[in-house]
Amino acid sequence: MALFLSPGKIGGMTLSGDIQRAAERLNNKTTLLVSSGAGISAESGVPTFREAQIGLWERYDPSQLATPQAFQRNPDLVWEWYRWRHKLISSVEPNGGHRAVADLEDLFPVVVVLTQNIDGLHAIAGSSEIEELHGNIRRYKCSDACRGEPTLIDLTTIPYDDEHAPICPFCGAHVRPDVVWFGESLPRRALDRAFQLASQCDVMMVIGTSGIVQPAASLPVQASQNNALIIEVNPEETEISRLADFCLRGPSGEVLPELVQAIRRLRHQDGKDPSS
Ligand code: NAD
Ligand code: ZN
Repeated sequence: MALFLSPGKIGGMTLSGDIQRAAERLNNKTTLLVSSGAGISAESGVPTFREAQIGLWERYDPSQLATPQAFQRNPDLVWEWYRWRHKLISSVEPNGGHRAVADLEDLFPVVVVLTQNIDGLHAIAGSSEIEELHGNIRRYKCSDACRGEPTLIDLTTIPYDDEHAPICPFCGAHVRPDVVWFGESLPRRALDRAFQLASQCDVMMVIGTSGIVQPAASLPVQASQNNALIIEVNPEETEISRLADFCLRGPSGEVLPELVQAIRRLRHQDGKDPSS
């Protein structure tokens, strides 16, 4: 936790000024972790959980659909919701925020993205080191993990439609998306690596997450205990804000490209810009 009055909390400063100061503090750092949530994909057109569900799904609460109990109770309903979300996600593109995160790899020796998102947009934008803590909606697996966790199933190899959860070809259980539902454990290896990195990093950038869903919400706490610089990018105040040295209050699709530009300018002035 920051023990001093942090720049993000001083009233009256402009966002551009905050971005410039954050860039100056970032400039000499080595190991950057980016912890991202649904907000970074909002400008691509992927709704966050807190945004109203649209159309057919308006009357369902996502926290009531994204659970193993919901799937057990009504596999077809949950399947249909995920197929709808999969199609929505397949039709969108990464935005400037995802691309700026990928650009950080040109500027710092170690950059790892720890994402709660299941949309795969960081990889499409070009980030190379990503831990998907909540899985990926583009993959499917056996709900019984009949050949070990995860027993991945390639949908193109089995009969299926968008209204009925298909059947695992190995054991007859239902097929489900390879995502982590409320009440389920996160993939062990990814989680261990995330916490290990959080305890060693110089900087953690926390982007577009409300900081409510555990255990991902504990990553910035771990980094902060290790005296890492914490930079939040979110238009709204969150649970993470009190830990942050800088709170960059704007949409990540605008703030992150500006931040990358500011770092590039500093490198250029220092004569360290690889492209100069
Ligand atoms: P959340 O919905 O709880 O919070 C989203 C946060 O993003 C909010 O704090 C909001 O202020 C912020 N935000 C909104 N627009 C933004 C923007 N343009 N730039 C920056 N920030 C913006 O999301 P969460 O914290 O990721 O947790 C919810 C759970 O929902 C996670 O488990 C996640 O896996 C899942 N989820 C994922 C996706 C996805 O993959 N894109 C979408 C919806 C939900
Ligand atoms: Zn099976």
